[in-house]
Amino acid sequence: MKKNGSLPKPANLFVFDAHCDTASVLFDQPWAFSRNPGHLDLQKIRKGGLKAQIFAIWVDPLLAPQRAMKRALQLLQTMEQKVFQPGHALKVTSLSEMTAALHHKKLAAWLFLEGGHIIENSPEILHIFHSLGVRGMTLTHSKNTDWADSTTDTPRANGLTALGRQIVRQMAQMGMAIDVSHASDQTIAQVLKTTSVPIMASHSNARKLCPIPRNLPDKFIREITARKGFIGANFFPAFIKRSVFDQIEENFNKFAKEIQERTAGRLDDPDFLSQVEWEYYLRAAAGNDAVEIEQLIDHIIHIASIGSIDCVGLGSDFDGIPSTPARLADAAAYPVLVAALQKRGFKEREIRKICGLNLKNFLQRIEKKGK
Ligand SMILES: [Zn+2]
Repeated sequence: MKKNGSLPKPANLFVFDAHCDTASVLFDQPWAFSRNPGHLDLQKIRKGGLKAQIFAIWVDPLLAPQRAMKRALQLLQTMEQKVFQPGHALKVTSLSEMTAALHHKKLAAWLFLEGGHIIENSPEILHIFHSLGVRGMTLTHSKNTDWADSTTDTPRANGLTALGRQIVRQMAQMGMAIDVSHASDQTIAQVLKTTSVPIMASHSNARKLCPIPRNLPDKFIREITARKGFIGANFFPAFIKRSVFDQIEENFNKFAKEIQERTAGRLDDPDFLSQVEWEYYLRAAAGNDAVEIEQLIDHIIHIASIGSIDCVGLGSDFDGIPSTPARLADAAAYPVLVAALQKRGFKEREIRKICGLNLKNFLQRIEKKGK
């Protein structure tokens, strides 16, 4: 393998990524945060120049309504036990805490909920999670909640219900990031009407380049930018290139009968269903067309040109995606991405914004707006 002579030094980078599912893999697997076979561990962080990370507390919607909140609490406990340890990372809940963590050369770790189903339709439970240090939430995951429609489900509320609007306003007041990744277009449109605070799409790409519902149409890229929000580019090849998305769909459909047979008689066991679904997802994603870093950068360029260079950033989705672009296998590869951005003509000042400053500034803005 060629030596990385021309790559930027990790110590000089400020990479702040908006979305990873490391909490889930550390819960599911007997892995340590110091070193593991996943996308993100202490060694990879150091090699990659990753200085701050938003950790998603993701709960499969299959576990809703009865077991979702419990699972979220279990993931928070996993973060306490495996990640927030001396020498590893510091849990941060504010910009000043992040600054302190960086000063002590510790990974600054933020906590977000992924999936509004976790709060069980309860503004009070949302408040409790805020007290536990959670500073953002994606309104939905892949299924509708009772109060917000997902972009990968059949519309039910046609956006937000009255409760959904109440929750969005509450998040704005608490200074919590309103994350619209996974939300339907109608949901996003109504969020933009309900509140005037900056919002984010932590891990979404451009629909123009990869036309799938999960990606953002240009009008939302414009509107999110206009109110000084944030959009993190997702590294999942299926969200970068349409043909890969289609391959995975096609492969997954081939497994339908097999999945049905394996899950027969166990439909009341959401943990098992979730595990089986992920197993087949991994199989469906194996051997797909290669996606290059340059194609990920195309999305970054598109978001920056439709929106602005001040709104675009990284939302890797590491540890939550079954495959990655070539040469971007895990968090150790950020210097490769930075070198590729340089090659595409981005100036150092712009690269610093994309890699972390834009996300930091976004969180600062919503912290100020919160009471
Ligand atoms: Zn997600």
